[in-house]
Amino acid sequence: MRIPMSSPDITQAEIDAVNEVLTTQWLALGPKMDQFEGAFSAYTGSKHSIAVNSGTSGLHLAMITAGVQPGDEVITPSFSFIASANCVLYERATPVFVDIDPLTGNIDPNLIEAAITERTKAIIAVHAFGQPPDMDPILEIARRHNLYVIEDACEAIGAEYKGRRAGTMSDAAVFAFYPNKQMTTGEGGMIVTDNDEWDMLFRSLRNQGRDVFDAWLNHTRLGYNYRMDEMSAALGLVQVQRIEEILAKRAQVAQWYNERIDQIPGVHKPYIADTTTRMSWFVYVVRFDDEIDRDAMMHFLNERNVPSRAYFTPIHLQPLYQQMGWKRGDLPHTEHAGDTFLALPFSSVMTEEQTDYVCQQLREGVAEFLSVASPV
Ligand SMILES: *Cc1c(COP(=O)(O)O)cnc(C)c1O
Repeated sequence: MRIPMSSPDITQAEIDAVNEVLTTQWLALGPKMDQFEGAFSAYTGSKHSIAVNSGTSGLHLAMITAGVQPGDEVITPSFSFIASANCVLYERATPVFVDIDPLTGNIDPNLIEAAITERTKAIIAVHAFGQPPDMDPILEIARRHNLYVIEDACEAIGAEYKGRRAGTMSDAAVFAFYPNKQMTTGEGGMIVTDNDEWDMLFRSLRNQGRDVFDAWLNHTRLGYNYRMDEMSAALGLVQVQRIEEILAKRAQVAQWYNERIDQIPGVHKPYIADTTTRMSWFVYVVRFDDEIDRDAMMHFLNERNVPSRAYFTPIHLQPLYQQMGWKRGDLPHTEHAGDTFLALPFSSVMTEEQTDYVCQQLREGVAEFLSVASPV
């Protein structure tokens, strides 16, 4: 039997909640979206939550609200999901990629300052794999240069940096609920902010630019249909109420993996920085020593019914970005991580036996590749 790469964690409560919506007249713009937003604010501890139809939509609106204009620059890591840079392109601005810490995969704050120009408007702080980046130096640099910070917390619901919750450390943060995320709404996302004006702007922008508030914002703006429907919101409401249970199950699966990966030479478990006071396990990503060919390992695992993914494929090496002038050699740590990191099957519903099976195949793969690599 093939182990799935990821699985949503859906119980009867979610099924009942979605079915209940279908018996009402309110399939969009109804009470479930408000309830989901309220529950989400209560969970993250942020003042406002604005539900949208994807994490990507949320990041786009964050760029608009931060005043990103054509020709502006936004600092972001290339070692991320493509939406972390595409949101900048949507506003005809330029993503400026900064290299990562090779162990965590998160943006290296020491490299940010050199990338700042007079056109820089904001920094996107991505929480890769569910681990916050080193936020304090990022916030300090942003303060000094008068830049906005947007957290891309799409992979990090519930994570904590020095005891502070992911999503509460910056001007606005975005979460995502695609089915492979810790919690899902099918498609969906959530913007959080403590800024009252930004909250109103986000609500207008997701709803065709309609004005629903005070006079100063009472002018025409270009808006979008980025609304979340009621079925998704009902699903999200139950999921956020179950999020601690789901995160605990994921932490358990990660621990099963850690214990086994520790015993395999040439393979390293995920590196958790000491600033991370709580990891929110989104994916389980191992690193290989250079003697082990990651792509050959993927093939080996696939033959044994274990799917895996090169994660992330650097954004600057995607064809679209190479056409814009980025090339291999620009970001050495990002490229090395892109060549040697591998995401293993992972979800909250995974069993210990399944992690055992995956690690057994990995162990056999390593034995095979290392014996070929070293002269007898
Ligand atoms: C999932 C994800 C997003 C948003 O994804 P959507 O599919 O648009 O919801 C953005 N950034 C990162 C880092 C992600 O992992």
